[in-house]
Amino acid sequence: MRKVKRLEQEMSELRAELDRRAEEGGAQASLLGQVLATVRQGIIVVDPDDSIPYFNPAAATLIRPGISLGQLSPHPLQSLVRRARAQGDPIEGTLELDRPHRLLTAVATPIEAGGRVLVVVVDVTEARRIEAIRRDFVAAASHELKTPVASMVASAETLQLALARDPARAAPFAEQVERSARQLARLVADLLDLSRLEATPEADEEVALDQLVKQEVEAFRDRALEAEVELSVQMIPVVVRGSRSDLGLALRNLMDNALRHTPAGGEIRIVVDRSPEGAVLHVIDSGEGIGSRELPRIFERFYRVDSARSRATGGTGLGLAIVRHVAESHGGRVGVSSSLGQGSTFSINLPTTPDRHPS
Ligand code: ADP
Repeated sequence: MRKVKRLEQEMSELRAELDRRAEEGGAQASLLGQVLATVRQGIIVVDPDDSIPYFNPAAATLIRPGISLGQLSPHPLQSLVRRARAQGDPIEGTLELDRPHRLLTAVATPIEAGGRVLVVVVDVTEARRIEAIRRDFVAAASHELKTPVASMVASAETLQLALARDPARAAPFAEQVERSARQLARLVADLLDLSRLEATPEADEEVALDQLVKQEVEAFRDRALEAEVELSVQMIPVVVRGSRSDLGLALRNLMDNALRHTPAGGEIRIVVDRSPEGAVLHVIDSGEGIGSRELPRIFERFYRVDSARSRATGGTGLGLAIVRHVAESHGGRVGVSSSLGQGSTFSINLPTTPDRHPS
């Protein structure tokens, strides 16, 4: 009788243990289910008989899964699975999709002897796009740096010859060395500004836009005077949030452009106003203007309407890229309207701190 009692007790302990384990197993399975439902990678399991017992939600958005291997699309996925199964090793492939165009990488990994294969699909469209932009940028920057360096080397060589043979004629070559060195310095400074803007997070200060404009315009006044361009300001008090120094940098770039593209006798007007979105800063010039064909491209890095002229007037092709970056990193945007021979208006729209508006 006692034996039976002990057996009963052992049985009930065993049941309790089994229940606990089943509960644990259930909890783990549900956790796993949640994880698989959340990850961005598409995950597909293909069984040895080509049936597909599982695919997660991401797989359904990246590819067209089916109930068997033969229905998986894009088609190259099928051969990827078959090759992984035959070789017993993970196989990686790149897949291209049309409309909308997307680039996917897929890795098929045999996970059990007998032919079960796990496929992981990742959308690399954006990563590849950024990689390509960076590659193009490095190539363009290197090309831009080469120009003043080559000019410096050539002018320095000619300078040496001139000093040896005819020192009186050396001055223009020395000046050319200096011009190229200054162009190089401007390029490096703009490149450093851009990379700093991309790398460091936006400062979060309260910036009185009107005060900032006042200060920058004062520092700019002598240059305008020298170029015989009239400079005027029209402002109301507006506060925005962000980086004072970056906003100053954007404004300096816009004023510098306006001055370089406005002939003597022209006019530059700086306006700070409120807009439906918050604040707006306009830099308006009465200069040469920009043709409608070029207009959409001028914010691209190194894009210039006239490269030789841009360099000759101290341009790097990066000024407006810097302006756009600053505007966007402040949650705003930059716009332009322009007509040839009439002048241009560049506008930076920024969100404001609403309760800081003077009523
Ligand atoms: P850059 O250093 O050559 O000025 P930016 O990126 O600042 O480079 O400007 C790109 C191009 O846009 C310039 O080369 C110029 O052709 C045009 N541009 C910019 N601002 C003005 C302006 N205020 N008036 C006319 N053209 C302008």
